[in-house]
Amino acid sequence: MNWLARSEQVLAGTPLTADEALALLRTTDDELLTVLQAAFQIRRRHFGRGVRLHVIRNARGGDCSEDCGYCSQSATANTTASYPWQPREEIVAGAREAAHKKAVRYCVVASGRSPSEADLDAVCEVVRAVKAAVNIQVCLSLGLLSLEQAQRLKAAGLDRYNHNLETSERHFPNTCTTHTYADRLATARAVKAAGLELCCGGLLGMGETIEDRVALAFALRDVDADSIPVNLHDPRPGTRFEKLPRLHPADVLRALAMFRFVNPTRELRIAGGREACLGPLQALALYPANSLFTNGYLTTPGQGYTADLALLHGAGFHVEDWTLA
Ligand code: SF4
Repeated sequence: MNWLARSEQVLAGTPLTADEALALLRTTDDELLTVLQAAFQIRRRHFGRGVRLHVIRNARGGDCSEDCGYCSQSATANTTASYPWQPREEIVAGAREAAHKKAVRYCVVASGRSPSEADLDAVCEVVRAVKAAVNIQVCLSLGLLSLEQAQRLKAAGLDRYNHNLETSERHFPNTCTTHTYADRLATARAVKAAGLELCCGGLLGMGETIEDRVALAFALRDVDADSIPVNLHDPRPGTRFEKLPRLHPADVLRALAMFRFVNPTRELRIAGGREACLGPLQALALYPANSLFTNGYLTTPGQGYTADLALLHGAGFHVEDWTLA
């Protein structure tokens, strides 16, 4: 396959097929730079050399009823870190700090299966308070959501809601048994139906096959995800998946290139696990992806804002100033 020519065809409107996506994941290490260059052609056409920074805040941690095998916040995991909702003022202060770092978006997350009515009341107030105080887009991630709940969040001024499909429909039951892939899909659809932007991605490295990765990329296209965070499994002590091996960096880069080919116009984010799984190859991930989390993740620290800026500037990228867009 001539991947550079194929990227031109994608840009001209001929989408990648599932067989081609699989072929991309089967390319050799000798072809890696060509594949990344091809993905970059698509990324550059739609996003230039800009990088959208996101700052994530875990506003309530741990004690979750669900049994996601990768998650240290599950009550089934042998971990201790749990805390109640942080005060609204602290969450707003975090938004100010994120805007100061030129983050496009502030992502507020709470552990749990789905929000209670009291959670939703409180979080609507948080959204109003952040939007009144700070010029930043707001994303929430609170678990499963009904259409009515999504509509309430939209009315409160929320811009975007995150709910990941995580993996393929086939592999999902191996990762979680307390809710289903269909539950997750229903939430993603409710978010779109409410007129919110949908942030919806996955977590690679949970023992899935490359066919599962392709299935996820196409499912995200079908659900019309506006933003696709690709998390990279960094096994957490005490979780069911703690003994799984880390992903190989070249496989991560191939997967990101495949996600870009299948979802050419969508924001593609290198999410949790970036430093642990890519190490010195992090900058190469910016060729397919146009977004990253800075300042750490839900339960693990990142390399920090200064190192992130050095990383992207060193490779000739720049922080996208969304206020100028
Ligand atoms: S629902 Fe979310 S917080 Fe709960 S165990 Fe699963 S990933 Fe963790």
